[in-house]
Amino acid sequence: MAESRESNSRKLLRRLRETLAAPGGGQDRLDDITHHIADSLGTDVCSIYLFRDAQTLELCATEGLRAESVHKIRLRLGEGLVGRVARMGQPINTANAPAEPGFRFMPESGEEVFPSFLGVPIQRVGEKLGVLVVQSREARAFSDDDIYGLEVVAMVIAEMAELGAFGDNQADHQPHRHTYSVHGVSAQEGAAEGRVWLHEARVVITNPFGDDPAREHARLNEAVAMLRSSLDEMLANHSASGVEYDEVMQTYRMFAHSRSWLRRMEEDIELGLSAEAAVEKEQSLARSRLERASDPYLRDRLHDLDDLSNRLLRILTGQGRDTGAAMPENPILVARNIGPAELLDYGRKLKGVVLQEGSVGSHAAIVARALAIPLVVQAERIETEALNGDTILVDGDLGTVHLRPEESVAAAFRDKIAMQAEAQQRYAGLRDLPAQATCGTIIELFMNAGLMADLPSLESSGAEGVGLFRTELQFLTRTQVPRRADLAALYSHVLDNAHGKPVIFRTLDIGSDKVLPYMKQHDEPNPAMGWRAIRLGLDKRGVLRMQLQALIRASVGRPLRVMFPFVAEMAEFEAAQRLLMEAVSREQRLGHALPTDVRVGAMIETPSMAFAPQRFFEMCDFVSVGGNDLKQFFFAADRENERVRRRYDTLSASYLTLLEQIARRCDQSGVPVSFCGEDAGRPIEAVTFAALGFRRLSMRPASIGPVKHLIRRVDLRGLREVIDEARAEGQANLRRTITDWIARQ
Ligand code: PEP
Ligand code: MG
Repeated sequence: MAESRESNSRKLLRRLRETLAAPGGGQDRLDDITHHIADSLGTDVCSIYLFRDAQTLELCATEGLRAESVHKIRLRLGEGLVGRVARMGQPINTANAPAEPGFRFMPESGEEVFPSFLGVPIQRVGEKLGVLVVQSREARAFSDDDIYGLEVVAMVIAEMAELGAFGDNQADHQPHRHTYSVHGVSAQEGAAEGRVWLHEARVVITNPFGDDPAREHARLNEAVAMLRSSLDEMLANHSASGVEYDEVMQTYRMFAHSRSWLRRMEEDIELGLSAEAAVEKEQSLARSRLERASDPYLRDRLHDLDDLSNRLLRILTGQGRDTGAAMPENPILVARNIGPAELLDYGRKLKGVVLQEGSVGSHAAIVARALAIPLVVQAERIETEALNGDTILVDGDLGTVHLRPEESVAAAFRDKIAMQAEAQQRYAGLRDLPAQATCGTIIELFMNAGLMADLPSLESSGAEGVGLFRTELQFLTRTQVPRRADLAALYSHVLDNAHGKPVIFRTLDIGSDKVLPYMKQHDEPNPAMGWRAIRLGLDKRGVLRMQLQALIRASVGRPLRVMFPFVAEMAEFEAAQRLLMEAVSREQRLGHALPTDVRVGAMIETPSMAFAPQRFFEMCDFVSVGGNDLKQFFFAADRENERVRRRYDTLSASYLTLLEQIARRCDQSGVPVSFCGEDAGRPIEAVTFAALGFRRLSMRPASIGPVKHLIRRVDLRGLREVIDEARAEGQANLRRTITDWIARQ
């Protein structure tokens, strides 16, 4: 790197710092900056464009263009070369600007066309703030060094903006002052108002300038050494976590040792940046590359780099997760993504969760569902837009999020929450009444659970028991297979807290999307139809056997109810049942006390079981329909694919006929049948299932009130006649007929 370039750059940064330190308004500062840059780089023009709103850039200061055009010239994102720099998040450098695609001549600037144009984005990790442009009359392409130097300056301008250096001028461009609304994907229903709590607190760089490069180099090197040793430690601690995990960590570690990454940051320091500003500059560039990259492997690697930069920034600034800042009241967690264990750590403190990435079937979504807090995933840019303490509204029903909302929006939202609370109050009055239809039939309402923390809902919701206890969470949130004794203690605690109400434990349903961190991953072309649940349990019997032993030991002296997931043919159920009975016999042989009574059930989650031999139904002590899976396989529509998951209606005649057949076949064998998929918690669907013969429904605790309320208003025999008539008439979808009939009751 040329000596003169370094000292020029440092000189320029020193002048910018003086500008920042000097008293004066924001406009004066911007004017000074453009003047200094044009002077230092020897260009005829230097201009700063800042975002007025998310789509519009405004010329805010210029040296060289007509002064009257300041605050007059506006460009849409993507419009002209300036708009293109902003959209792409990368520089445009040309010696012949008019020949560039998208060039737009702006006569308002009052100047001739400047053929040489170099524009670089002003950005701060993922936040686009504006564009910095230099232009020259002389037709020359700017060198790589010029581009690099201008990027360093743009970085400093971005940091100055973050520190509020441009005052009023900046008010309109501040990314954290406006309302931001985003439509993501609903992963757990419910509505909440609260204050933002960022999982990864935003690091604030208070000094982007580095006067003493030697000192900044030393700080950077020290931080990098700390980063590397912390990664080595992580790797050593998780050495038993499997080959895949190891590979990921090794690549990650390789990045931390990347010479080119370090060299770029060292060059930034040479040009006058502080160590943290240098890290952030490289992080910004990686982020904008990430936004453009479509190759999944490259995206993963850029994510790694992003994550490493965050760690390095936290080391350098001492900021981050452990800043000691107090969580606001009614915290709503905002994160790019989060693991299940981390989310579980926050527990019920949270009122809601908004993720920038994530998916409906992710582990975090499973935990949010267990915690019964609204969750919106794929909320674009939310992590960038949100600041700790901002007001935020999360509508998990619609998948919308409003950050710093207008008062009118907040008021309407509060009305919605109040209405829901009022309805819950009304339902609370039904708590001790049976779900008895007007025809006299009583439907048992059970709840679904997956955490110890769910158990108090048994009492508050009035559920008669736990119809589905998902046992995956205890496996998903650990770094190693849980020990039998720990599981037994947990299951026993669950039973204690159920105070005699029945709890149906479903054995481990992993595989598919639910991959255990310590399990070797198998790349399956279609994991939902792959090696999961009972298939995996029967092939790898050790874990299933251990879980069954834990369940037996937890149930000593009381009844045990076990249910096997995803049974697709009779032989699988037979084998699983045998395994359970062998485990019971073993306990007996060992002289251990036993449960008072063991009942074994199967979940019907594939259409094949509606056509199973009658002996299958006779073998089961009970059957439960897992409608989430059953529906996805019946319609061949992935339950996690937003494009198709709402496409087919539960109340279609064909699906109801399948359910009716399952209910009838269970009835013929005298085996009790329940429905435990999400649809059981939707009142219209619930009464329909009841009319078809399901006498037990298991759902989220919050759904019990609304479902009971409707059941108590309906004559199930009448509804059954309506359903039969509609099918006889050839109606393909019964929703309209059923809802109209219910409305008339
Ligand atoms: C289902 O498939 O309906 C079910 C209850 O199981 P899970 O949602 O855990 O797959
Ligand atoms: Mg299922």
